[in-house]
Amino acid sequence: MICSVPHIIELGFLLPTSAFETARNHCNMNRITTFTILLVGYILRHDVLAAPTGDPLLGYNPSNVVIHQNTDNINYDLAPGQTDGANVGPYLDFDNVENPQPMRGTKGGTDPGSRTEAIDRLNPDKLAPPGTDHGNVNNAQWPMGMSHAKLGLGGAGWSRQQNVDNIPAATEMAGVNMRLEPGAYRELHWHKAAEWAYVLNGSVRVEAVNEDSQTFVDDVSAGDVWYFPPGIPHSLQGLEGGAEFLLVFNDGSFSEDNTFLASEIFAHNPLEVLSKNFQLPQSAWKNIPTGELFIFPGTPAPEDIAEQNIVGSAGIAPIEKSFTYHLSKAKNTHETPGGSVKIIDPTTFPLAEFFSAAIVTVKPGALREIHWHTSSDEWAFFIAGSARISIYAAQGLARTFDYHAGDCGYIPKAMTHYVENVGKDDLIFIEVLQADHFSDISVGQWLALTPPQIVADTLNLTNQTVSSFKKDKQFIVKGDVVQ
Ligand code: MN
Ligand code: MN
Repeated sequence: MICSVPHIIELGFLLPTSAFETARNHCNMNRITTFTILLVGYILRHDVLAAPTGDPLLGYNPSNVVIHQNTDNINYDLAPGQTDGANVGPYLDFDNVENPQPMRGTKGGTDPGSRTEAIDRLNPDKLAPPGTDHGNVNNAQWPMGMSHAKLGLGGAGWSRQQNVDNIPAATEMAGVNMRLEPGAYRELHWHKAAEWAYVLNGSVRVEAVNEDSQTFVDDVSAGDVWYFPPGIPHSLQGLEGGAEFLLVFNDGSFSEDNTFLASEIFAHNPLEVLSKNFQLPQSAWKNIPTGELFIFPGTPAPEDIAEQNIVGSAGIAPIEKSFTYHLSKAKNTHETPGGSVKIIDPTTFPLAEFFSAAIVTVKPGALREIHWHTSSDEWAFFIAGSARISIYAAQGLARTFDYHAGDCGYIPKAMTHYVENVGKDDLIFIEVLQADHFSDISVGQWLALTPPQIVADTLNLTNQTVSSFKKDKQFIVKGDVVQ
């Protein structure tokens, strides 16, 4: 047998000295015997370390009398619909309900323990999920209010972002919510991802130079959009009254901390090289910033935009290469009894070749109908109001999420979803796809356009039910349900 000393020492650090000695003195024994000794030594040592101390509080002891507490002795009310069968699953409005409880129909029980009621009231479908939810669907919700804000210099604004760090399933798109005070800049920069933006309020001057040396400057207002392809340098400046906007990037790992900045080009090239590059003396650079500016106060933009219309030999960007689209001035694409839909996609805004979006307004109680998107994930942002979405994800998996103004949502391609307005005011949200036109498949329309016998046989429905399915997309259906 091989019985090396290092081998014994290696195991010996676990053993009392006596066990080590024993093992060393029996090197001529066979391997099994040696290991038996080592094992016994280890167990002995382990027993010594973990031996009962005689403390009667350690484990079972008849002297420890059980204290029975009535943990059900709590006051609570149930929300309207909470006693309905779990599969009926109405939205539970806990706003004015005392001590909301995780119960649905006959399922669930009281919660006497540690909790933050405000979170439960905001997320009733997490506290008491509908009985139709099943299994695990990846998280599809992130409130921007839970993101760590990056505050700009000199009171100029801020930004906060959602990416794969907070919704791991959101691999195809990421979002940024940014504020620019009047005159404030988002520093001259570019990035590897494409940027599509929707103005939430106020107005912004956007400026860019494209790879053909063509120039562009425009002012956009609430409800308008812009788009910058990857690598195109651009800047933004808040106009009078300031602005807040939403940026959507075609990369789920995008971060506003990872952009290429004008200030950093100058801070991170040798001054001698800068002087050679621009054919200027080094004294020209004596006051350049030492690091990023990101968001900072500036000289207010001249009211007359023509003053900033810089033109080189290549001229201004032609209209088909416009970086902006004045969507606020466009008519809604669909008006329905439950609300309206305004679609923007490359059909009308050609430069943004893979960004298609719908700005959806849903009246209280109404429903953006159950649908799915064939080829793209959906990045959603809730501009106003409150909503819930159930995501069905194949393999019987389904989960319901609650959303409020300022929340991001993410629904992977092919998964069905509806968006129900569960608040008292209009719900306004935006669905953004990576697609060359905005499209979806409506469950209602699909089944209405399928031979009724197939549908009736599959779902065990009456012919009368199947014949009432609508052959046209409804987009948004009104809230009052036929009983
Ligand atoms: Mn940008
Ligand atoms: Mn959708």
